[in-house]
Amino acid sequence: MHQTLVLNATYEPLGVVTDRRALLLVLNQRATAVEDSDTVLHYSGGSLTLPAVIRLHKFVRIPYRHAVPLSRRAIFARDGGRCVYCTAPATSIDHVIPRSRGGMHSWDNVVSACHKCNHQKADRTLREIGWKLRSTPREPVGAAWRILGTGRPDVRWITYLKPYGVEQMLTAAATA
Ligand SMILES: [Zn+2]
Repeated sequence: MHQTLVLNATYEPLGVVTDRRALLLVLNQRATAVEDSDTVLHYSGGSLTLPAVIRLHKFVRIPYRHAVPLSRRAIFARDGGRCVYCTAPATSIDHVIPRSRGGMHSWDNVVSACHKCNHQKADRTLREIGWKLRSTPREPVGAAWRILGTGRPDVRWITYLKPYGVEQMLTAAATA
């Protein structure tokens, strides 16, 4: 089963559907194929090339197009619902550089934490207590990151995903 990248009318990546579903969108004139795949579907009356990338005719509004709002739920989602220090289920938000020490309430300074670690860390910095972060907290980027996370992206998708900040992830995938 192959997948097709779906672009908004503005060429912004929206998500991924099966290539059969993508073909139906094209045949129903709700989308246009912008890149063909290598898969040709043969039927009694002829053949059809399945699309690798389609673009919707009608603009679809997506609420997270701009900055991802900094909420407790979003932070938990980014960090997999686990405490970044001990991997216990997260129950609170910790400011890596404490707010009392000038730390910002921003994506790169907030992490999911369990109550125990949060309490233990209190108003100290990681350096002061000798703790380390498993990964650097950063702002999650919308659809493009989700799309790349769905599996093996088709090389024909890359051009359309690149403008949305996925370069770093592609480099990581290439060297893995
Ligand atoms: Zn913890």
